[in-house]
Amino acid sequence: MSAEPISQTPSVPNSPQTQMDYPGNLFVVSAPSGTGKSSLVKALLELDSRLQVSVSHTTRVPRGQEQQGREYHFTSKDEFAAMIEHGDFFEHAEVHGNHYGTSRHAIEDRIKGGEDVVLEIDWQGALQIKKIFPNAILIFILPPSYEELLQRLNRRGEDTPEVIEVRMANARIEVGQAQFFDFVVVNALFESALFDLKTIVHAQRLKYAAQRRNKSVVFRALNLV
Ligand code: 5GP
Repeated sequence: MSAEPISQTPSVPNSPQTQMDYPGNLFVVSAPSGTGKSSLVKALLELDSRLQVSVSHTTRVPRGQEQQGREYHFTSKDEFAAMIEHGDFFEHAEVHGNHYGTSRHAIEDRIKGGEDVVLEIDWQGALQIKKIFPNAILIFILPPSYEELLQRLNRRGEDTPEVIEVRMANARIEVGQAQFFDFVVVNALFESALFDLKTIVHAQRLKYAAQRRNKSVVFRALNLV
């Protein structure tokens, strides 16, 4: 039986490789309070110098060692309202009674310039971002169980029993949003969840459009467009 020659033109044409809107990747990480999202994102940033975090604006008051411009841009309610009015935010949402928002300035220039940016925001903001940047990569971090989440919130010792009750009630709503995200990471074991996050970031950098940009010499040598 003779072997079929390899056709240079596939019978089922490849779909054209969609260009990313911007050369940089936009990773959006959401999770219920107490899931370990902040620690995971912090560890990810320490491991990956190509990732930049976006600092949000919030109307809540600073906690503990938090510094103006480092964890958040702490703003008054009036300033926040004025920023909404001026269209300064890509997204904003009310979370646990405070307002939070991602300014255009915080991400647009960076991803246009090819930087990879991480947003650590709530699910409402994440879904708003996806509408503006369909190529944004939405990652939801789940706790292994509600029992474990409750234990973590209690161990953290930051909140009163009433606040923990509210956080647990919110967590049940938030977890239901995971289905709208691109990726889900279960934070049962920190190191394993961190590995999953790193894998997601790495996989994005191996996409055709990204490789064409980063390995342009190889692509040209292979006559790839
Ligand atoms: P915290 O006050 O504990 O720092 O944050 C409360 C929640 O607000 C967390 O889920 C956090 O991810 C979310 N958050 C922080 N910044 C933003 C933001 O810019 N936009 C939105 N939508 N949520 C945010």
